[in-house]
Amino acid sequence: MRALTYHGKKDVRVDTHPDPGIVNPRDAIIKITATAICGSDLHLYDGVIPGLMSGDILGHEFMGEVVETGPGSTLRKGQRVVVPFTISCGSCFFCEKQQFSACDNSNPVEKRDISEPLYGQPMSGLFGYSHMTGGYPGGQAEYVRVPFSDVGPIVIENDDLEDEKVLFLSDILPTGWMAAENAEIEGGDTVAVWGAGPVGLFAAQSARIMNAARVIVIDHHPHRLELAAGLGCETLNFREVDVREALLEMTGGIGPDAVIDAVGMEAHGFAIDNMLDVAKQTVGMGADRASALKQALLACRKGGRVSIPGVYGGMTDKFPLGALMEKGLKIGTGQTHVQRYTKKLLGLIEEGKIDTTFLISHRLPLEQAPDGYFNFKNYQNEWTKVVLKPGT
Ligand SMILES: [Zn+2]
Ligand SMILES: [Zn+2]
Repeated sequence: MRALTYHGKKDVRVDTHPDPGIVNPRDAIIKITATAICGSDLHLYDGVIPGLMSGDILGHEFMGEVVETGPGSTLRKGQRVVVPFTISCGSCFFCEKQQFSACDNSNPVEKRDISEPLYGQPMSGLFGYSHMTGGYPGGQAEYVRVPFSDVGPIVIENDDLEDEKVLFLSDILPTGWMAAENAEIEGGDTVAVWGAGPVGLFAAQSARIMNAARVIVIDHHPHRLELAAGLGCETLNFREVDVREALLEMTGGIGPDAVIDAVGMEAHGFAIDNMLDVAKQTVGMGADRASALKQALLACRKGGRVSIPGVYGGMTDKFPLGALMEKGLKIGTGQTHVQRYTKKLLGLIEEGKIDTTFLISHRLPLEQAPDGYFNFKNYQNEWTKVVLKPGT
């Protein structure tokens, strides 16, 4: 089969690999019909995630048709499924608590050497996201093996729902939803969202559905800010205004009730500490550039909530711990418990309450995936979301 493969920093290619087969009884093999490039794939592309190896197949947002099942799978050949990016067994201590992204059974013991010392506990398995998360081949490919296929995949029964309407149930839609849930939004709240990328836009959309009175989205790409405005949000361009001052002015001097950092570890910024973080990240000292998060913490009102769907992997310097404590802020974060949300969100899509297709700017055959990565990275204003279609 053909698959998008990592070869080194900013070097991905479509190569030929052996077709995947059933390894465990609960496995299923999926023929991919649509798969997306995620903002977090760009962290892999930029070489800032540890444990990625040349030859690894990327991709964790995908859907397709079931073509083979193990004896323990509950799927049937021919079914259309969307697959969560988090690999979860469904029955460990964490899965029982619906904390699916903390599953203790999906990351093999020999793959825990990076995350266990770094985080104190091993990470669980994710598709196409380095050997730190299990080294599972990803779904930017013609076929993929899905472990625990009786737990994760959600079957799309309604053939009228085209792939593009449901594909984002694999990651960014539940991730945006959980980000808004972690912001503990109450009716009438003002919510500020850093980053008008896919997760930021879906978090903003979710916050509106959860009855936030005002949602303010912060970015520097004019077209992405237009998409936010299209969702009924107010917008701020951080190249044009002092964000904290603007937010104070917009909220009668109080600050937003909740802030959401949908930027993560490769934030832009001009502050001197961000430049230090850039330098350290460039020379491989493992510092996360956290300027968006730092700004969000300072902007949040006293007693407010901080939600962090943006991806961080290492350490950061000059974290405003004092602002967190002295203002009594509450933090919610984590890899998304995708399986917890897929049914509810599929329902909202079917009812027409959520439409995510506005985000897709480019559709490419799998063979053009390297162009997709390059442009999604370098032309972020126009390239808002790339969907790859293997077999076209
Ligand atoms: Zn993703
Ligand atoms: Zn589990």
